[in-house]
Amino acid sequence: MTVKELDQNYVANTYKRFPVEIVKGKGSFVYDENGKEYIDMGSGIAVNTFGLSDETWIRAVESQLEKFQHTSNLYYTEPCALLAKTLCEKTGMKKVFFSNSGAEANECAIKAARKYASETKGSEYFTIVTLKNSFHGRTLTTLSATGQDRFHELFQPLTPGFVHVSANDENELEEVLKTQKIAAVMIECVQGEGGVMPLSEKYVKNLFSLAKKYGVLTIVDEVQTGNGRTGKLYSYMNCGVSPDSVSTAKGLGGGLPLGATMLSEKLENVFGYGDHGSTFGANPVCCAGALSVLSRLDEPFLKTVREKSEFLFETFSNAGGIKSVSGMGLMIGLETEKPASDVVSECIQNGVLCLTAKNKVRLLPALNIPTDVLAKAAEIIKRACAD
Ligand SMILES: *Cc1c(COP(=O)(O)O)cnc(C)c1O
Repeated sequence: MTVKELDQNYVANTYKRFPVEIVKGKGSFVYDENGKEYIDMGSGIAVNTFGLSDETWIRAVESQLEKFQHTSNLYYTEPCALLAKTLCEKTGMKKVFFSNSGAEANECAIKAARKYASETKGSEYFTIVTLKNSFHGRTLTTLSATGQDRFHELFQPLTPGFVHVSANDENELEEVLKTQKIAAVMIECVQGEGGVMPLSEKYVKNLFSLAKKYGVLTIVDEVQTGNGRTGKLYSYMNCGVSPDSVSTAKGLGGGLPLGATMLSEKLENVFGYGDHGSTFGANPVCCAGALSVLSRLDEPFLKTVREKSEFLFETFSNAGGIKSVSGMGLMIGLETEKPASDVVSECIQNGVLCLTAKNKVRLLPALNIPTDVLAKAAEIIKRACAD
């Protein structure tokens, strides 16, 4: 059987795959089973921060692999300790809990908020406010947090204790904070799966003021927006706010599974021994990859991300067949006249891999994509939208 046949026979039917088998990659190029080359404008859904098989990243990961691949969280390891220190120094957060995915990173932030609120305000303060159209993961609790009904229908009953309010509507949020017993508010500064929809800076600032006024915690889900994706290290840094907890994953490990939940001063001691844990969390190989990624996300590099972003906004604004361009940094959504899936299919034909998010074509290239490669991909995408 071919790989495609094996997959269709033996892998659970949860993914509608594109008709492409990836056999190797280098930087922002990937190659299929027939040797056809594609420009990768998805980077494994914002995971391969520095592209595929990046030399610097490989060396960091390999050198840890040669020492040891795993021990468990019963012992101290250098990559874990150094990565926690790096994250704290770069964000001002005080402590980090490591897991393996975005959903788990959010799960930890939710547990931290519930425990803190229960201890400081009372056990009835367990509810978390999230936004309509958000996406926070696929575990039952993070599905519950996700403000999109279509994810909920099949899996009732979900975890109780979530209310969803409209994005960019301060009044609706304040009404909930005023009338209900709330532990925390959780947001994505740019709703990724929800169609690459940035919240307005004013709304984010007001949300933080309201959270302060009503004594509720703030959690920012930086799973997709984090690690340089929006042109700042974390997207909340675009808005000048200080969250109580920040969760991240996707691009953190640069291609290896790693989630992190950062805890501010308020929450740093919320967990005691045994309150939370993860067998694979802080895996030393994943942490070594993340240390390498973070060491390269300095201000001069982030400036290049913002420049590439401007280039994409300029290229796609007012282009034929494109109704609107949304997003931030190298996280871009195109509202197209044709169905997004038709644009993506045509791009595949022409050697560019793009993603969709709701009705949008979504672009999440590696942050170090060379400008000429980016320009070439943008031309092909533009043509697919126009004709
Ligand atoms: C992808 C994503 C998640 C879920 O991450 P997994 O690693 O798939 O569990 C959560 N939140 C946001 C904003 C995401 O984009």
